[in-house]
Amino acid sequence: MSNDRDVAALPPAHRRFWEEASGALPPDRLFCDPLRTLAWGTDASFYRLVPRIVAKVRTREEVARLLGAARRNGTPVTFRAAGTSLSGQTVTDSVLLVLAGGWRDLEVQDGGARIRLGPGVIGAEANAALARHGRKIGPDPASIGACFVGGIAANNASGMCCGTAENSYRTVERMHLLLADGADLDTGDPASRRRFAETHRELLAGLSAIRDEIVRDPELSGRIREKYRIKNTTGYSLNAFLDFEDPIDVLLHLMVGSEGTLGFIAELTFRTVEDHPHRASALVVFPDIETAARATQRLSGGPVAAVEMMDRASLRSVEHKPGMPAWLASLDPGACALLVETRAGTPEEVPRRVETVKALLGGLRTLVPWDFTARKPEYERLWDIRRGLFPAVGAARRIGTTVVIEDVAFPMAHLAAGTVDLQRLMHAHGYDEGIIFGHALDGNLHFVFTQDFGSSEEVARYGRFMDEVCEMVVRKYDGSLKGEHGTGRNMAPYVELEWGAKAYGLMRRVKALLDPQGILNPGVLLNDDPKVHLANLKSLPRAHEIVDRCTECGFCEPRCPSRDLTITPRQRITVRREIARLAASGGGSERRERLLADFAYLGEETCATDGLCATACPVGIDTGELTKRLRAESRSGRARELAEGAAGRFAAVQAGMRSGLAMADAAHAVLGTRLMGALARGARAASGGRLPLWNPAMPRPARARIGPSASGSDRAVVYFPSCIVRTMGPARGDPEDREASEAMLSVLAKAGYDVLLPEGLEHLCCGMPFESKGFPEVGDAKAGELGRALLAASRDGELPVVCETSPCLHRMRKALDPRLRLLEPVELVHDLLMDRLAFSPRAGTVAVHLTCSSARMGLGPKLEAVARACAEQVVVPPVGCCGFAGDRGFTHPELNASALSGLRAALPRGCAEGYSNSRTCEIGLSLHAGIPYRSILLLVDRCTAPRGGAEGARA
Ligand SMILES: Cc1cc2nc3c(=O)[nH]c(=O)nc-3n(C[C@H](O)[C@H](O)[C@H](O)COP(=O)(O)OP(=O)(O)OC[C@H]3O[C@@H](n4cnc5c(N)ncnc54)[C@H](O)[C@@H]3O)c2cc1C
Ligand code: SF4
Ligand code: SF4
Repeated sequence: MSNDRDVAALPPAHRRFWEEASGALPPDRLFCDPLRTLAWGTDASFYRLVPRIVAKVRTREEVARLLGAARRNGTPVTFRAAGTSLSGQTVTDSVLLVLAGGWRDLEVQDGGARIRLGPGVIGAEANAALARHGRKIGPDPASIGACFVGGIAANNASGMCCGTAENSYRTVERMHLLLADGADLDTGDPASRRRFAETHRELLAGLSAIRDEIVRDPELSGRIREKYRIKNTTGYSLNAFLDFEDPIDVLLHLMVGSEGTLGFIAELTFRTVEDHPHRASALVVFPDIETAARATQRLSGGPVAAVEMMDRASLRSVEHKPGMPAWLASLDPGACALLVETRAGTPEEVPRRVETVKALLGGLRTLVPWDFTARKPEYERLWDIRRGLFPAVGAARRIGTTVVIEDVAFPMAHLAAGTVDLQRLMHAHGYDEGIIFGHALDGNLHFVFTQDFGSSEEVARYGRFMDEVCEMVVRKYDGSLKGEHGTGRNMAPYVELEWGAKAYGLMRRVKALLDPQGILNPGVLLNDDPKVHLANLKSLPRAHEIVDRCTECGFCEPRCPSRDLTITPRQRITVRREIARLAASGGGSERRERLLADFAYLGEETCATDGLCATACPVGIDTGELTKRLRAESRSGRARELAEGAAGRFAAVQAGMRSGLAMADAAHAVLGTRLMGALARGARAASGGRLPLWNPAMPRPARARIGPSASGSDRAVVYFPSCIVRTMGPARGDPEDREASEAMLSVLAKAGYDVLLPEGLEHLCCGMPFESKGFPEVGDAKAGELGRALLAASRDGELPVVCETSPCLHRMRKALDPRLRLLEPVELVHDLLMDRLAFSPRAGTVAVHLTCSSARMGLGPKLEAVARACAEQVVVPPVGCCGFAGDRGFTHPELNASALSGLRAALPRGCAEGYSNSRTCEIGLSLHAGIPYRSILLLVDRCTAPRGGAEGARA
């Protein structure tokens, strides 16, 4: 993709950097081609800068070498964690250092009191590791499911509960740092501190001098203390100079919120906080903002974990959504709601806290009767209102406009007046659809509005609005211009306005001490250009109806199996937007052609179309659907004829596949695994990657005879064995030689069910292979055929229909007649058979894998429950989509390998078998785990007997 011409086009300094970097990184982790630089130039903010070079770094040594190259060549670098920042702090037109893969070390220490983390650990993963200790990390941004702890610390990100007491600044204990001059400092290691003190006398003396100046200046010290009483992420964390004496401790805390401008965080240790499991929430609606603010003041210091304010416009943005209370729509125009949550360590403590909170609110006028609820479905419904606000604006915006989220904080005494002023300014500048919500206890408000950055008038309007907002927040109320999202490029021009010349001058000195050459993220956090916040604005042009609502937030990225191999869902959308923009503008045809050519592999071929991205997307976008649509648009008439031919002779096609598998298996038996593998790799290489790649976990042909059973039982199901299971049997060498269909029939028989098969089974298919390859009409025709056969067999939906292959079942749910009661295998066992079978759990550990389709159907808990009934120990390795994607595991094995690169290491010692519910996924899982993966039905069959006959369980 990156070729000699791309390298030659780099400016000389960057070319020299490239040459040095080429010696430090393998070629597949260094790019300068148009597609990937554009793709990585996108973060969640409304700024766009295209890096000249993207380098994916995996180790401290690599970062150190690249920092050295940056120093020598004067090429600035910007660090990128998950790229969910909102203020433009992770975009650059120089070198982007991406923490891709790696950086995921995690160690829970002292029984959960501390956690040591690589900067690439996702915040939610850190919390998952702490959950069994009843602990969590302090910072709690709403983006915690996607963002990395390195980014959390570097932004000093926070959320609904952590306030100013439990953020990264307050809870960080130790960092391993790499500084711009190449120095390596582990602040928790006395030897490293000593060494650093020796080698960096001047730097530390400089920090101490700043500290002395602040301490000696009561006005400045008072101002710094005052400003951190509320949330504040504008500029550097000057409180570090007052809270710590040792300059190394000062440095450690200056790193928090430094947005990659002072050094690289290679590892960090947080002190953790209690995670009270028992909760109750209430939605309290007040007649006006003043009363809501008064209520917040009363609650401050009370037993509340979160108090979220939502103005009337916020409530209006979600009132039409399913599940919202009907009264939302009839509230007065001035109404303002507080969503209040209290948490406790025991269930008994909850009502006591609830009573205290109610007493605190006593006497305040409310518009709607309210009470706390400790019932999860009910409080989750209330929190859905709050969670839906940002996506609601994103989804409702005019295509082409951008969603802007701003983030200010007012001292508590000014919360009401500040909110009213914000509303007034939004209306005065024509942002009538804007909404205000936020963390009221901290005076931290977000205001969200849509903005067209496509015309200079609109940009000027935004500029005037921001000027007035900043004047109001700072001069009228002495508030913070950024409460939690970081200064970035967005607030850099206003840092001096907020802090005053003296404090601003100290921030400049801090930067000069730590990064005298200005190679670390220059222009971010401090910037001399008063208009930098109005430059390099990103527009979101129309690209395709499936993805036009994308806000480029990046929440989908951790779910995507191609994220470490090629690009992510967000990046696919970014590239399609640029292709569409170039097409619409009629210019840049060479660039467009190049993007289109490179997208074929990076975007289209390596998309597994599993749709897991949709499960994390606030606006529900399934980028896999876009891929399928693009595939369909690119298919020739001849290809469609071939697909139709295959669909029409489906039984013969399957017979051909079984023969092919038999031949491959025979060759495997004769040649052995090593020779067969070498030959297969050679043949694939000779074909230029066009021949599918054989692998040792390849199945033998299916041989099972699948027939109906009729014992006269009063219970019956229709069984549709998928075409995959009718074609593929177990792998050579798997000690389990039975097939999933045999296990299905055996389990059903033990549970006393008769089995009916649909008429013409050998011709039937749900249509997924055709749909995913870009032949949706052929797929729909196959689905139609199947639907008719199943309706007939199930007596128009009277009998349940089961299929052992989860992706097929998922497609059937979407494509077939809703009268059909379709059951996935774990649903079948969990919902219908559990009481009819006697389980004898096996000794030892089994691994289970949740397929993407099962995940999308919410079947994770049922899969685990079924597995736990069958085995003493069950592990669920934290891998998402396996990337096998039907036959893509053969045609693009690198996608499967990349998606499952962490699987083997995640399996505990002694775990000798894995279970899932998709035969093709099981091939890739077996290959990369080094243990056989099979249908969960085989496990169930081995561990069960008919009720009253446990001796029937197979050994
Ligand atoms: C929908 C949405 C909701 C959000 N909600 C919140 C919220 O509730 N609260 C909140 O505070 N924020 C929120 N954010 C903003 C953002 O998600 C957070 O600030 C998050 O912590 C950023 O983490 P990241 O991993 O994406 O970091 P990135 O965006 O990749 O990087 C953040 C900064 O850290 C620097 N950096 C990254 N890694 C390192 C490192 N190892 N060493 C040194 N510097 C580094 C980068 O250069 C950059 O300046 C939200 C964002 C979105 C899109
Ligand atoms: S597809 Fe959805 S989750 Fe992904 S970046 Fe776009 S809006 Fe965010
Ligand atoms: S469908 Fe899967 S592979 Fe494709 S973009 Fe979405 S998560 Fe990534």
